[in-house]
Amino acid sequence: MQKKKLNLSIKILIGLALGIVAGLFLPADFATAVVKPFGTLFLNLIKMVVVPLVFASIVVGTCGLNDAKSLGRLGGKTIIYYLFTTALAVTIGLAAANLFPVGRNLAFQMEAVSGAEPTSVVDTLLNIVPTNPIKALAEGNMLQVICFAIALGIGILLCGEKGQPLYRGINSLAEAMYSLTGAIMKLAPIAVFALVAPVVAINGPKSLLPMLGVILTVYGACLFHMLVVYSASVGGFAHISPVRFFKEAVPAMIFAFSSASSAATIPFSMDASDRLGVPPSVRSFILPLGATINMDGTAIYQGVCALFIANAYGISLTMGQQLTIILTCTLASIGTAGVPGAGAVMLTMVLSSVGLPAEGLAMGMVLGIDRILDMARTTVNITGDIACSVVVAASEKQLKQQHKNT
Ligand code: ASP
Repeated sequence: MQKKKLNLSIKILIGLALGIVAGLFLPADFATAVVKPFGTLFLNLIKMVVVPLVFASIVVGTCGLNDAKSLGRLGGKTIIYYLFTTALAVTIGLAAANLFPVGRNLAFQMEAVSGAEPTSVVDTLLNIVPTNPIKALAEGNMLQVICFAIALGIGILLCGEKGQPLYRGINSLAEAMYSLTGAIMKLAPIAVFALVAPVVAINGPKSLLPMLGVILTVYGACLFHMLVVYSASVGGFAHISPVRFFKEAVPAMIFAFSSASSAATIPFSMDASDRLGVPPSVRSFILPLGATINMDGTAIYQGVCALFIANAYGISLTMGQQLTIILTCTLASIGTAGVPGAGAVMLTMVLSSVGLPAEGLAMGMVLGIDRILDMARTTVNITGDIACSVVVAASEKQLKQQHKNT
């Protein structure tokens, strides 16, 4: 079993390497017209299963928790961990961009300041409860799906015996979805190849060079955050060696990197979390929630880009403004969907919170390399989710240790 899993990881790695090499040689049109559809096909298959998978596994997970108290405790710990690490992430992003002042040489003229109107915190929170659960499921609104699934799970628990047929039905749906997802995931190595090759072919070295400073700062800060914050949290709270943690997380990380979608990576993070010993009742709750509200990589990116844009216009941000950015990014991450490009939309809100231009030349430059930055931030986003599942499971004394030596 373990050998088979390892093989899939290696195959995914090979897919990534071949995708990068092929991207360097393939013409962009060919890569887009011929290779990309295979990646899209895989993403569609994953999207097909992800809503029923998340819905069924959260209902089953909630029923497995048995009482509202443990659900509340689990939820509380998860949200505190997510918010804390996201605030830390944006601080690291800002620190990195202060240390390497990217964009200073650009000296752009300030254009009219405008941008998306920030959604209020109250609205973001109110929006979590779906007024129409079927619509939430149909639209794949993950936070609302999670809310409805938890509520249904509680309903099943409350009605005791009478809820059992429904529980068994949803449990069986969850099992079917796990099997189907497992079968689809076997295609992951090809998907990774087909997703990465067009990105490399389109963003040739020429388009990346002018923004190399921003790319290196975002990638460097992401790497730092993963190696320091996640290693410390899984090592400190769960006594899992960082080497083992990253070894198990690697397939999910590569898939997140290739797809730039936390939501599409959920099946892979579930798998990683399983191998790290996190029980289903914990991971089926924490990971889909994390894919939607925990965006450490996105926060790093927003911190770096906010400073890059300020520098490009010769504006120096005060300590107070940087604190506003930390707060806005942390809250904005809750409302950011786990799909490609969502972080860039949220960046406009972060920029408007401190009066920086959310459109214009500098933002255009950032958008031009969005996919490249998205790949790094999504990788961090889902690694943070997996780390949280391990830490919370350990704190609940539910982390299984049997795979310790693998
Ligand atoms: N693509 C990211 C994710 O799915 C969100 C973002 O654009 O930052 O996690």
